[in-house]
Amino acid sequence: MERPGWSLSDFQIGKFIGEGKFGKVYLAREKQSGYVVALKVIYKTKLQKYRFHAHLRREIEIQHGLDHPNVLRLFAWFHDDQRVVLVLEYAARGELYKLLRSVGHFSERTAATYVASLAGALAYCHKKQVIHRDIKPENLLLDIEGRLKIADFGWAVRSNAKRHTLCGTIDYLAPEMVEKKAHDYAVDNWTLGILCYEFLYGSPPFEAEEQQDTLMRIVKVDLLFPKTRVISADAKDLICKLLVKDSSKRISLDDILKHPWIVKNAEPSGSCIEQKSIA
Ligand code: ATP
Ligand code: MG
Repeated sequence: MERPGWSLSDFQIGKFIGEGKFGKVYLAREKQSGYVVALKVIYKTKLQKYRFHAHLRREIEIQHGLDHPNVLRLFAWFHDDQRVVLVLEYAARGELYKLLRSVGHFSERTAATYVASLAGALAYCHKKQVIHRDIKPENLLLDIEGRLKIADFGWAVRSNAKRHTLCGTIDYLAPEMVEKKAHDYAVDNWTLGILCYEFLYGSPPFEAEEQQDTLMRIVKVDLLFPKTRVISADAKDLICKLLVKDSSKRISLDDILKHPWIVKNAEPSGSCIEQKSIA
């Protein structure tokens, strides 16, 4: 459904979905094909304020080049005097984070399905030499069938430093990042371990009142499995193989997909809809 020379007039704009740092997201329908998409409208004045426009094109090109069932598609983009518009795949079920907060924690089946989806998507991205480095529940969306989609490629990398220091989401930092050592693709494998834990227990493993304590727990890999929830030994085994301080010893993305917990629990279709428990 991609076509060169698109402009805003080719779309029928629908409901407002939400607002991010750089602009607003709307549901929209491409007039000719009837195809439903999400339009992310970014105001150039905002970009200039954040001085991000220099990198913008490259970032967009990166996401544009990615085509995987678990990576949010960027179908096209165009701009006029005032704004840059991204034509994105629509993720009807919204943020995985919101779902996780509303249900508390996921079942092993759901958690394994999402971990497998993430491992597959990251393996694909790594092969294309793209590291996300900011994989966390807020950047994960769900489509209508409950299939996980990694969003915000590129932007995320830049908002990193700011986010970690100002907004306090340091829970997903790998030890090599805390210690400011050189880091590579294995950063994403660490984050996968953090997410797997958070999916199952409802909060990330190294959480603490003070940021300083979280950082200390990360570098010590102070990993505890609370007794409040019964989690299978297979799940804990995979988490322990991901949350390894030495980045070269972390289980590889391909081996995650072969891990018994994934093999036994993950939905091969990748779609999983966690039902809200009736309280
Ligand atoms: P940031 O500016 O750091 O990316 P953000 O992720 O909150 O912050 P946006 O990415 O602009 O901001 O998204 C705004 C809202 O729209 C969020 O609630 C997000 O979940 C939702 N959203 C973004 N893209 C899509 C999409 N393709 N399909 C459905 N919802 C989306
Ligand atoms: Mg976003």
